Amino acid sequence: MNQPILRASDLVKTYRRGTAEVHAVDGISLEIAPGELMAIMGRSGSGKTTLLDLLGCLLRPTSGDLAVDGSSVIGASDGELAAIRQARIGFVFQEFNLIPALNAVENVMLPLRYGPRRRDGQARARELLMLVGLADRVNHRPSELSGGEQQRVAIARALVNDPGVVLADEPTGELDSTTAADLLAMLRRLNVERGVTIVIVTHDPGVARSTDRVVRLSDGRVVTDARRGDGAWRAALDGEGEREGGALARLAARIAGRAPGRV
Ligand code: ADP
Ligand code: MG
Repeated sequence: MNQPILRASDLVKTYRRGTAEVHAVDGISLEIAPGELMAIMGRSGSGKTTLLDLLGCLLRPTSGDLAVDGSSVIGASDGELAAIRQARIGFVFQEFNLIPALNAVENVMLPLRYGPRRRDGQARARELLMLVGLADRVNHRPSELSGGEQQRVAIARALVNDPGVVLADEPTGELDSTTAADLLAMLRRLNVERGVTIVIVTHDPGVARSTDRVVRLSDGRVVTDARRGDGAWRAALDGEGEREGGALARLAARIAGRAPGRV
């Protein structure tokens, strides 16, 4: 197997709230290989954002290890972490986070300001906007773009430094379901054609279903890690046993001889 781009080993992130401790991430081990397209699911408060921020070197773990391209980043200085993020990781957020005064090309070029200068920055930004289907929107400002288009700009921006992995926290959270499906199809295309590794936090089973692997969190731990085709795939999408109306509840109803249910 290829060396994982990201390898978390027994990662823990504990917050202190007054005298109480919150175990936001409570011992997570996970390997993400180059070329994966995967989803992280789980109820609100289950630790998804904290895990993504740890994987993206935005947060330091309380304990455990994180390796990027096979090298531990635990002893890295703040400057070294910033350099790793800049070189290897692209971020996409629910709220797009575009700069209103800048047009699409300028927004995509933004991360280049913090790295080594590249003379082809403008051309690179245009190429990426073409790749995400916005060739005819390069000079538009965010207010002149739809939500789905703004998120495409944010994805182009995440790709501008050729990252090893793109981490997206609820990227479709502000989009209607048709636009979300279009965005997923586009991410899939980037994954297949460009080999971009993509990790998507979502609580939309429709989004997760379009990936190849679903990791489900509960109380800061991994409760399911299923790949498409595994027996646990459906349960991972449904969050079986986590809430009423899930597969477990349907099974219970069947056993009780009531509704025929769909299993
Ligand atoms: P999710 O993204 O799955 O909704 P989060 O990772 O945001 O979950 O949060 C996990 C848990 O950690 C929650 O109980 C949340 O309240 C807590 N938490 C997150 N960030 C902080 C923080 N900066 N300080 C204290 N508690 C936090
Ligand atoms: Mg979150």
